[in-house]
Amino acid sequence: MAKDYYEILGVNKGASETEIKKAYRKLAIKHHPDKNQGDKKAEDKFKELSQAYEVLSDQSKRQQYDQFGHAAFTGAGRGAGGGGGGGGFHDPFDIFSQVFSGGGRGGGGGGSIFEELFGGGGGGSSRRSSGPMEGADLRYDLEIDFEDAVYGADKKIKIPRMETCDSCHGSGCAGGSARESCSHCHGTGQVTMSQGFFSVRQACPICRGEGEMIKNPCRKCNGEGRVRAEKILKIHIPPGVDTGSKLRVAGEGEGGLRGGSPGDLYVVMHVRPHEVFQRDGLDVLCEIPIDFPTATLGGVVEVPTITGKTKMKIPSGTQNRTVLRLKGKGIPSLRGGRRGDQHLRIFVEVPKNLNKEQKELLKKYSEVQNKSSHPMMETFLKKAKNFIKGNSK
Ligand SMILES: [Zn+2]
Ligand SMILES: [Zn+2]
Repeated sequence: MAKDYYEILGVNKGASETEIKKAYRKLAIKHHPDKNQGDKKAEDKFKELSQAYEVLSDQSKRQQYDQFGHAAFTGAGRGAGGGGGGGGFHDPFDIFSQVFSGGGRGGGGGGSIFEELFGGGGGGSSRRSSGPMEGADLRYDLEIDFEDAVYGADKKIKIPRMETCDSCHGSGCAGGSARESCSHCHGTGQVTMSQGFFSVRQACPICRGEGEMIKNPCRKCNGEGRVRAEKILKIHIPPGVDTGSKLRVAGEGEGGLRGGSPGDLYVVMHVRPHEVFQRDGLDVLCEIPIDFPTATLGGVVEVPTITGKTKMKIPSGTQNRTVLRLKGKGIPSLRGGRRGDQHLRIFVEVPKNLNKEQKELLKKYSEVQNKSSHPMMETFLKKAKNFIKGNSK
C-alpha cells in the first residue's frame, strides 16, 4: 500500500496546509467507519487518509516524505525525534477528532463532528429521548378585517404542521414492534472518543444519543413518528381583538411523539386598516366633513359608527378640528366591561365651484359680517399688531 500521500488526499504537490486539511476533512467524513458500518474497504481508506494527513500536515514530516518517500516512515531508523513514538502512526480516530474539534469549527464540542458526519439536523444536546416528547407550539399569523376584529368572527384557517403518525401512533416503529437497544453504544447513548491524552464522551452517532434504535421503521412516517399534514381549523375570533392579540388553540400545534401531547397553536391577529374608522385601543376615531353653514348655524348630521348609523348634533359655531364624542360607541373590551367611545373629528369643508347665485349671496354676507363674528381673527390681529407695519385695517 505504498500509495502516494498526495494522491490519496487528491491534492497536488504544492498544496497549502489549508488545502490539505480541507481535502482530509471532506474525504474522512465520506469514509468514516461510523458512516459505512461493516465496510472493510471504507475502514482501510479511512486509515490511509489519516496517515496521509498526518504526514502532509506536519511540516517536517512532509519534508522528509518529499525527500525520501515512504521509506522515511517505514524503517525504525528515521523516527522524527519530536513525535514521541518511533515510526508508527497515530490512531486514525484520534486524528479525525483532532481535526474536527481543534479546527476552529463549532466550539469544539461533541455535536459538530456528528453533524458533519451525518448532516445532523435539529440542534440541542439530546435531540430526542426515548420517552414521550411533546409537540412544539406553532404560530399562525392571521390577517382580519376591521369589522371582524370589532364584532368577532368565525374563520377557517389552513395550517401546515407535523402531525403524529396515525399508523404507528408516533412511535416510529412498524406494526407494533418496539425500539431496540443500540448495539453501538450498548444502550447508553454515549461513546467515548479519545482525543490526544483526553477521552471525551459524546452522543452516540448511530442512535444520536437515544440509546435505542428503530429496527423496523414505520413505512408511513419512515420512522419519524410524525407526518407532514395540512389541517383546516375553524377558529372563533372574539369581539374586541386587535393587532397583536394572540388566540391560543390548545392541542392544535405540532403532534407529539411516543405518547407525548401535542403543542398549542397561537393565532396572532393582524387587523387591516379601515377606510372610515381608525382604532385607538378601545376607542374609534373617525373624521367627519361638514359644510360651513352647518358648522356656523349648527345642525344635525348623520354619522357612521361601528354599530350602524346615528344622528349627531353639531352645535352652532363648531370649529374645524373640534372633536366630538359618542359615548359607548367604541370597541367592546375583550375582558368584558366598558366599551370604548367613538371620537368624531370635525372637518369644515370650504365650498368650491360655487355658481353665480351662491357667489352673490356670499358677497352680500361678506359685506354685512362684523368683527365680533370672528373672535379668533380679532385676537390674532391684536396680538400681531406690533409686527404688522402700516397695515391696520
Ligand atoms: Zn409512523
Ligand atoms: Zn447508540
